[in-house]
Amino acid sequence: MKNKKIKNSKHSRGAKGIKYFRLKEYKSNMSDLIFHRIFCLLASGEFDIILTTKTHGEAGYIDYDNYSIYLNPKVFPVEETLIHEVLHILKPHLDEKSIIEMSSLMFERLSDNKRDKLMAYIKALATKYVGVNKNELCAYYG
Ligand SMILES: [Zn+2]
Repeated sequence: MKNKKIKNSKHSRGAKGIKYFRLKEYKSNMSDLIFHRIFCLLASGEFDIILTTKTHGEAGYIDYDNYSIYLNPKVFPVEETLIHEVLHILKPHLDEKSIIEMSSLMFERLSDNKRDKLMAYIKALATKYVGVNKNELCAYYG
């Protein structure tokens, strides 16, 4: 109770605090919406996932001809790379910089529940493992 009071008084100071609060709320609603779309796309099974260390240093990329998303777990946590690549599919008009900003923001606020869900999708959609063992693939809890 005491902690809550301190926290509230800290954030209700002046107009700046309110603006920050609203922006935060907006951003969290936005990322929930985008997460919903990411999970919809994964659930559609339209894209296969290939886990491979042979990506020439890239964390991941999409092969649109073969409906495959390539992820390299040795370069970057696969959950963030998957978010990044699916954002490319969902938002083809966005440039690389915006996609990086969005995916890192979303990865930062990833709940354990969403993280587990992403990992479950990666394992369910994975059709190929190259240089990576299925068993060494585990969730990255920052
Ligand atoms: Zn990219």
